[in-house]
Amino acid sequence: MSIAVICTGTELLKGSAVNTNLAYLGRELTAAGMPASLEITVGDHADELIRAIGDALHVADTLIISGGLGPTTDDLTLDTVARFFDIELVENEELKNKVQTFWNFHHSGRCPKQQFRQARVPRDGFILPNLVGSASGLGFETLYGGVQRKVFLLPGPPNEFEPMAHDVLLPHLISLRNENMITAGFLCCAGESSVFPVVEKAVSHLPVEVACAAGAGGTRIFLSGSDETAVEGAVAIARSVLECPILPTGEYDMADYLLKLLRNNSLTLGCAESCTGGLVANRFVTIPGASDVFKGSITAYANEIKTALLDVPQEILDEYGAVSPECAEAMALGCTKRLNCNCAVSTTGVAGPDGGTPEKPVGLVYVGACVNGRCLSRKLQLRGGRRIIRERAVENALILLFTLLTTAGNDSSC
Ligand code: ATP
Ligand code: MG
Repeated sequence: MSIAVICTGTELLKGSAVNTNLAYLGRELTAAGMPASLEITVGDHADELIRAIGDALHVADTLIISGGLGPTTDDLTLDTVARFFDIELVENEELKNKVQTFWNFHHSGRCPKQQFRQARVPRDGFILPNLVGSASGLGFETLYGGVQRKVFLLPGPPNEFEPMAHDVLLPHLISLRNENMITAGFLCCAGESSVFPVVEKAVSHLPVEVACAAGAGGTRIFLSGSDETAVEGAVAIARSVLECPILPTGEYDMADYLLKLLRNNSLTLGCAESCTGGLVANRFVTIPGASDVFKGSITAYANEIKTALLDVPQEILDEYGAVSPECAEAMALGCTKRLNCNCAVSTTGVAGPDGGTPEKPVGLVYVGACVNGRCLSRKLQLRGGRRIIRERAVENALILLFTLLTTAGNDSSC
């Protein structure tokens, strides 16, 4: 299966909306072991969409189109797709009822006729249920250019697109894929360019495909094949040749895995954040169900707050400064005491663009972690702008906590 994604919306081209549907779908498809091979973003114009579909079909047998399924005349996707593939659109009773019910719930008065544009389905096509909005997703199969094509249309609003992609489209695509295809993988905390060649070489004697996806905190590595023993063997080899921290097989997100690890060990967590100002906490709080593990976060930006709220000794600040391993470890330790938790992570650094000195340049960050009183810190010299430095500090703080939780961890102690 070769997949192309077309995102429609003039606002996406202008930059007034960020194409989060593509990012979401890209992650989902990659995680399912069937990454998209092409993406095209087009404005809300029929001729642009026609050209994009034609281009996409040169490389893909499966087409996923997002947006333009609304009831208004600028919502062109369904009519344009039907025109391209020469497919008749027929009104569907189930969808007519849905549109009517949706209208009655949200409005008073008669449902305008144009709303029922959303009740049309390609002949011999099928409906992808949308539990949030009035426009249903649609799918159909057709022969084009001598190849059987699968086409899926999903509404553009991300709060509709994401649950549909996750709950309806992905399971459908997975069921269509060769049933014998198996994919396994894990997150490794290193860059794609260093990970991919090492793994590819190590498993080259096995009948498996290697795919990598760079993302938060490292690289997700996927090994796919139809021989289960070969895939399992490749995973074991990949795990043994990588020297960076790696998550267990099947785990792809560090914050998510840390919460599970802490939960399984009845441990609780807090954050003490200076330069990241709450981003580490946000990384955990974004995950549903974090509350049984995550206790809270103290943003201690100024030195006097580090002393007052995290009990960082004044002597540490005077002798080593706030951007120091001593301060990072003291912040983490103080956090465990103040928030009454077993574990903590901390960040302190120079995020820039100003504030750097020859001794402590922009990008110098110390991350700290503390588990049951045992503390560890790590020096980072990060590159990039303020946003990137802060984001990398977050991921490195998580990796440090993972390291402390999973190894004897005798780098340093306080
Ligand atoms: P509606 O019934 O709301 O018109 P629709 O399927 O026609 O749904 P669009 O009109 O394309 O969808 O987009 C609706 C909203 O969703 C717009 O605010 C748009 O900016 C947003 N949106 C569309 N596509 C994307 C995308 N790829 N990423 C993020 N937001 C998007
Ligand atoms: Mg619309």
